[in-house]
Amino acid sequence: MKEQPPIQCPECLTAIRYIPAGVSKKPPYKPYDEFWGCKNMECKYTWRPQAELKRIRAEIPVVNESEGNPQEKIVQGLRSSYMVLTDIKKLLQDIKEILSIK
Ligand SMILES: [Zn+2]
Repeated sequence: MKEQPPIQCPECLTAIRYIPAGVSKKPPYKPYDEFWGCKNMECKYTWRPQAELKRIRAEIPVVNESEGNPQEKIVQGLRSSYMVLTDIKKLLQDIKEILSIK
C-alpha cells in the first residue's frame, strides 16, 4: 500500500506540487528526497510518505533544542551519533561471527 500525497494543502487549501529529489541550492548542498509542498510560498506545509519521514527522523540525532548553546548541541549530536555507531559496530561484530569472517 502506497500512501498518496494530498491534492490540496490541508492548512491553506492551496494546490500541492511535487518536488523531485535533488540537492539543495545553498551550502552545504545537502541531497534531499522527493517531497510534496504547498504552492503558497508563505505556507511551509510539506508532505512526505510516513515511512520515509520515520527513516529521516531516525537518522537525526536527538538534541534538546530548549537548552544549551550551539556548541553543546553539536556535542550532544555527536554523542548520539557515536552511540548509534557503537551499536552498528556491535552488530557488525555479530554479523562477522555469524558469517565466520575474521
Ligand atoms: Zn498551504
